Amino acid sequence: MAELIRLKNRGPVPFVATLFHDAYCRRGGKCGCRQEKHLSSVVNRQTGETGLRESMRAAPVGFSIPPGETSPPMHRAVLYVPGVAEAVKATPPVLVVVEVAAAPAPKSRPVVPSAPAEDSAIASGSSRKR
Ligand SMILES: [Zn+2]
Repeated sequence: MAELIRLKNRGPVPFVATLFHDAYCRRGGKCGCRQEKHLSSVVNRQTGETGLRESMRAAPVGFSIPPGETSPPMHRAVLYVPGVAEAVKATPPVLVVVEVAAAPAPKSRPVVPSAPAEDSAIASGSSRKR
């Protein structure tokens, strides 16, 4: 089953949702959040001085789909995002799920009958599993 889907907005207004980390990233297995610097004040217990501590935290990103438009491919974990599930299940549905083929075939590749078959593994980021 393809993991990627697209969402088509059938509603009259732009559809907007936020890809919360717990709902989207954790299920999708990949974090798409922005990493933001976050400054928090901390009190040094030894000196009593107040300082700033810098830490990174994930800020969820939002997305919007204009009316009649289809979103770019997204992990199907998006269906767990608040607002998305409701929009898909609504009657009539506001969002329609469009399946995305897992491996899109290249269209512009010329077919040369006499060329030797190039089926030796073209590794694209695959790691050895042994
Ligand atoms: Zn995340």
